[in-house]
Amino acid sequence: MTLTDELKFPGDQIGYIEEYVSGDNTYDDGNVIRSTVVGSSKLDNSDKTANIITQTKISVPKTGDIVIGTVEAVLGSMIVLSMDFINQRRVYNNVECICQTRHLRKKNVALIKDTVRAKIIGMKNGTIHATIDDNELGVLFTKCRKCFGIVGIMRDAVKCKECSWIDDRKLSTDFGKIEIIQSEKQ
Ligand SMILES: [Zn+2]
Repeated sequence: MTLTDELKFPGDQIGYIEEYVSGDNTYDDGNVIRSTVVGSSKLDNSDKTANIITQTKISVPKTGDIVIGTVEAVLGSMIVLSMDFINQRRVYNNVECICQTRHLRKKNVALIKDTVRAKIIGMKNGTIHATIDDNELGVLFTKCRKCFGIVGIMRDAVKCKECSWIDDRKLSTDFGKIEIIQSEKQ
C-alpha cells in the first residue's frame, strides 16, 4: 500500500487504468483514475485499487459494525480498543471503544497491543461499546506474556513456541490468519 502525503484535488490524476481500478472517492475517465474529493491517494496493491482517503472525515462506527483494533488498556472488567479498521476499512483517527470482559471468566482475555476484532453494540455516555462475545470475535493476534514470543493455539488457549508458556485468551476463530492485517497496519 502506498499512501502519499501530497494532497490531491478533484480531477487530479491518481493512477493509470492499466495498473489500477477506481476505488474509494475516485473515477475512471477512460484513461486515468482521478480524484473526486480532496484527500491523499492510496494505491492498494493487494486489490489493485486507486483510492483517495479523506482524513478530515472522522470515522465513527455504527451499531453492528465490525471493528478491528489494538488493545490500548486492559482493566479489571474491560479492555479498551483503539480502532484500526471499521468494516475492513482502514481508519486513522484512533477512536476508542470498550469491551466488557468480566463475564468471560478468563484471566487474560487480551493483552496490551493485541489485535482484537469486536462488534459495536452502541454508545453510552459518549463512549462506544463493543462486544467480543462471538466465535469470530476476540483476539486475532497476540504474543507470549512472558517472553513476547510467537504463540500457537492449544484448545482454547495459546502456547508460546519459544518458552512453552500456556495462557488463556478470548480467541477469534480467525486467530492466526492475521498476517494481512498486520502488514496493512505498518
Ligand atoms: Zn514465551
